[in-house]
Amino acid sequence: MKEDKNGQITGIGLISGGLDSLVATLLLKLQNINIIGLNFKSPFCVCDKAYKNAECGLNLYKEKFNIEVIHKQKEDDYLDIVKNPKFGYGKNLNPCIDCRIYILKKAKEFAKEVGADFIYTGEVLDQRPKSQHKQALKIVEKESNLEGLLLRPLSAKLLKPTILEEKGLIDRSQLLGIKGRSRKIQVELAKKHNLLNEYFACGGCLLTDKSFALKAKDLINYNKNLKINDFRILKYGRHFRYKNAKIIIGRNELENNMLLQIKKVNDIIMSAKNVKGPTTIIQGKIDDDVLEFAAGLTLRYADFMEMNGIVLYRSNNSEEERELNATKVLEEFYKPYIL
Ligand code: SF4
Repeated sequence: MKEDKNGQITGIGLISGGLDSLVATLLLKLQNINIIGLNFKSPFCVCDKAYKNAECGLNLYKEKFNIEVIHKQKEDDYLDIVKNPKFGYGKNLNPCIDCRIYILKKAKEFAKEVGADFIYTGEVLDQRPKSQHKQALKIVEKESNLEGLLLRPLSAKLLKPTILEEKGLIDRSQLLGIKGRSRKIQVELAKKHNLLNEYFACGGCLLTDKSFALKAKDLINYNKNLKINDFRILKYGRHFRYKNAKIIIGRNELENNMLLQIKKVNDIIMSAKNVKGPTTIIQGKIDDDVLEFAAGLTLRYADFMEMNGIVLYRSNNSEEERELNATKVLEEFYKPYIL
């Protein structure tokens, strides 16, 4: 334990941007503990604050506590646990227990680098049935080699004291004993300390989303050497698996632009000729049948009244554009291929 010359200890906070980690931080700041925030991002994160023009919880750390939040990315090794989690999945493709262990191991490395004394999270006992029951919290602490050094300020009074509490470096009596899903106490505290006016949920995790999980499983099944950024494209467009190819159709201008940014070198880019319509990306094994099907889908989602029309396509690495006569695919024919 390395207290500084003022006798202060330093904690690394796993900061999601949501209410729980904010209040956990508040409890420690009230004890005058040094905090460095650590926020992990990945292509599986959803943050809709930008769309809603709402305040992002992460901004509050600087504003209210003068705390620096360091951003880190989950890397390709994260995919090992998405594909094969030691402690299993939650409802969909979310390997929550393994995910917490992964993050905490990285946080431990970071704590070592900056000479911090402990790590804390905004976890609440029994808030999530599968990953935050008492046994799960113990597993996470043990597997991340943080026994005695992982504090959960919101539920601390219901859990074994950490070394910091035992040594009196953190006052356990000022921590909480919250259990369950209600956020009433957290909201009251946040309001009392003028941190926010309303409860906000920050973002979310796409691995818990049924439809995203289906697309992610399909991606895993068809690709051996995946990188974590390969999952980015699953956030945009309508996805179809047709034979060994993947067809992705933008749903609006924003998605069309995103698809064009994310596409890979060998992908085919397609659009309807002379009419407004989607950008279509085709990946995987592409033959004439795949091209024809993708062209029919592209017409189906374009502003085009007739059944037959022309689409333009080119491979990503070529400027040469080709034309293809196509016929709209009707829903009864494309439905089985929707992911
Ligand atoms: S919901 Fe997603 S980010 Fe959160 S612990 Fe589970 S897998 Fe990790």
